[in-house]
Amino acid sequence: MPELQNCPNCDKLFVKALRPVCDACAREVEEKFETVYTFIRKRENRRASIEEVHEATEVEIDLIMQFVREGRLHLSQFPNLTYPCEKCGAKIREARLCVNCRDEINEGLQAGEKQKAFEDRKRDRERARYQTYSALGDKVRREKP
Ligand SMILES: [Zn+2]
Ligand SMILES: [Zn+2]
Repeated sequence: MPELQNCPNCDKLFVKALRPVCDACAREVEEKFETVYTFIRKRENRRASIEEVHEATEVEIDLIMQFVREGRLHLSQFPNLTYPCEKCGAKIREARLCVNCRDEINEGLQAGEKQKAFEDRKRDRERARYQTYSALGDKVRREKP
């Protein structure tokens, strides 16, 4: 039995296949891609930004960004098709975050792990110290006449 699902775009039921949206929506996306590609391929438009492409073609910025992200619009040919990093707004051409923000997040994760290890060690040390103190206390008490 083919698996049916609602198209996330138009809510119509469709057979879930390779595409995440229904045929009609997929076709629409393809048409929009063609519109964008036809526009940007022209020599005078190659340096257009996403906003300029959007204004000229009326294709949604999100969709143009998706084409860029999917690598369908090659940035070696269209150098200004960048979009803002979701964290700092830097111009990027892949993923959702710029390299700096991705590094920062990775470092943050690593720092988090380090912090946890540090706290574990600190707790162990405190426990050890406490045991030493109480041992010492016993000794002092014992040594008192
Ligand atoms: Zn649809
Ligand atoms: Zn960033």
